[in-house]
Amino acid sequence: MCKIIPRYKYVIIGAGVSGLVTASKLMTQNSKDILILEQEDHVGGLCRTIKKEMAAYDLGSHRLHTSMSKKSKAYLDNIFKKEQLIKNRRYSKLFLRKHYIDYPLQLVNVLKGIGLLESILCFLSYLTAKLKSLFIKAQASYEKNLITSVGARFYHLFYRPYAIKVWGIRPDLISESAIKKRMATTNPLKLVASMLFQLSRQLSYYYLKGGIGNIPESIEQSIKGNVHIIKGVRDFNFIALDSPQKKLTFYDATTKEQRCVEFENIISTIPIPKIIQKLSGQEISHAVSSLVWTGLRLVFLHIKGHPQVYGETFYFPELEYTFGRVSIPKVFDPNMQKEDDYTVFICEVPYLAGDKISTIADMDLIDKCYNDLLKTKLTAGKLCDQFNFCKKLPFVYPIYIKSWEEHLQNVLDWISKHYPYIYLSGRMGLFLHCNIDQTMEVGLELAETLLAQKPSYIWHKQSRAFHNFKLRD
Ligand SMILES: Cc1cc2nc3c(=O)[nH]c(=O)nc-3n(C[C@H](O)[C@H](O)[C@H](O)COP(=O)(O)OP(=O)(O)OC[C@H]3O[C@@H](n4cnc5c(N)ncnc54)[C@H](O)[C@@H]3O)c2cc1C
Repeated sequence: MCKIIPRYKYVIIGAGVSGLVTASKLMTQNSKDILILEQEDHVGGLCRTIKKEMAAYDLGSHRLHTSMSKKSKAYLDNIFKKEQLIKNRRYSKLFLRKHYIDYPLQLVNVLKGIGLLESILCFLSYLTAKLKSLFIKAQASYEKNLITSVGARFYHLFYRPYAIKVWGIRPDLISESAIKKRMATTNPLKLVASMLFQLSRQLSYYYLKGGIGNIPESIEQSIKGNVHIIKGVRDFNFIALDSPQKKLTFYDATTKEQRCVEFENIISTIPIPKIIQKLSGQEISHAVSSLVWTGLRLVFLHIKGHPQVYGETFYFPELEYTFGRVSIPKVFDPNMQKEDDYTVFICEVPYLAGDKISTIADMDLIDKCYNDLLKTKLTAGKLCDQFNFCKKLPFVYPIYIKSWEEHLQNVLDWISKHYPYIYLSGRMGLFLHCNIDQTMEVGLELAETLLAQKPSYIWHKQSRAFHNFKLRD
């Protein structure tokens, strides 16, 4: 038996920031027939704070960057009271060659961290690469482009291990465009200039009192009553797509009922393969299978005492350490922990489906991370065994292999042609590696497109511009 719920003009799949923002913007324009379907029993997606008795935990290091667009800032100012937003000085560190270096990089610290000799060797290697590039044209790839830009020595010291860690594949397979997305500059002269500039500038960021997850939770509160949100949605499927009464069925794990809803438009913010799977898209299976993400295993550790190095986020590009990044919630906001005699460390361990890290048991991963925290001298405290836990996020970082743009375009063209009422959006729907404020921008722009009644092919064409976003971490 299928319990029928009324027809909706917009059904949004996924209650992450992008889906919620689109709903709130559609709603303010008096377009109230909106339904959001979310698989989890909470909103937020990647931008979530797990709230437990002992502490509150974000899903990895999250902050709002001060350099966000006016549009996103205005949206946030509308949602939050001023006192909810904290402005903090940034104290991030990069761990390289057993030294903690201030991050973003500052010249004096880099010299201190990698040493004067290594710095000179890196500079000579840069000059050699520049000279070579005058005579030999390098092939376009992440690796070749970076070696030409920063020299082989610094590439092997920092960029190569970092790329392997984040994307889990050989860097020569990664597209050149991945550099433009992640790095503000690869030119060492510009890098040195920006490092000098940063000496005279205090870096800061915004954070939400009580956790970054208060962003989606506040949006949820603001749309309650106007937008219908169903959480705990399992196994949705489309039916009657050829008829004017297009329907979607799903199992509601909260009420334990099979439900059925009629819709006009679908906004999908879930990973591309998940939506294509529901649309019998065998003819584009090659393109879809080329759009792959790195996953993240998060390890939440509780350790006696205070950290040995002060900072809120620590980056570990070198391959010998299990994690790529570690954050300390109580430095973002002291209220993230109930008591102060221990410290919560959140370790981010990237993985690829099927690799060793993806299958290792939680307890072993906890041990590995704890041992690496001791090895890197971030702590010398004792592990509080009873409170630690892990979480697995299967879709996190899009892997920009060569020709990813072509594959994505094929998928977007196919969906626009066969299912013109489906709009792909958000980080997962558009294969974006983006920040919270950027996914907000995507959500807002999609709502404007829908309200202007533009067809999905226009939206999908427009969406290419989002791949020019510069990622900040
Ligand atoms: C470790 C980490 C650190 C980050 N740090 C920062 C930072 O410091 N600053 C910053 O600005 N950004 C940061 N980000 C990025 C930011 O969190 C994301 O870009 C943003 O939250 C993405 O929102 P979204 O709505 O586009 O996607 P998502 O959050 O992925 O939302 C998609 C939603 O769809 C739901 N869903 C999936 N499948 C289904 C299904 N079959 N049925 C129903 N629902 C489904 C998911 O549960 C989820 O709620 C970070 C991300 C990570 C992972």
